[in-house]
Amino acid sequence: MKKCSRCKEFKVIEAFHKNKSRKDGRAWECKACKKEHNRKYRQENPEKIAERKHKYYKENFEKIAEQKRKYKQENFEKIAEYNRKYKQENFEKYTEYSRKYKQKNPEKIMELDREYNRKYRQELRPYYLNHLIRSQTGLPAADVPPEFSDIKKAQVLIHRFSLTTKN
Ligand SMILES: [Zn+2]
Repeated sequence: MKKCSRCKEFKVIEAFHKNKSRKDGRAWECKACKKEHNRKYRQENPEKIAERKHKYYKENFEKIAEQKRKYKQENFEKIAEYNRKYKQENFEKYTEYSRKYKQKNPEKIMELDREYNRKYRQELRPYYLNHLIRSQTGLPAADVPPEFSDIKKAQVLIHRFSLTTKN
């Protein structure tokens, strides 16, 4: 038995999450308390969580796009069917949520986007190249063939080079 430091109740050891950094190998609070705390945190900090998600997406865009591309290739039919259903059921809900968040935090989002866009444009990161290709071809991010990025990169480099030699 172990005493939960949050609710002060004695519970069986299995009622605590494993935690190797603790002396007894278990978390200081019980699973029920942890769950309740997480629930409260999510409820009280929806913006923090949305911001973290936005940041994660931006920072891991390349990884996410690659994963999506792979998954799409391997599960083509399943996805088509799932998408049709999911879109019908959740698309409006999701866009509404995302729109609301952006509406409530326009400056934060804009500043974050500006910062990333500046960095990505400068470094010619796949996120930026993908963006250029998408606006040119109308393809969704996950459908842009990886070769296109290399071609686009070369095009942009040539264009930038020509700008420096004009004067
Ligand atoms: Zn507890």
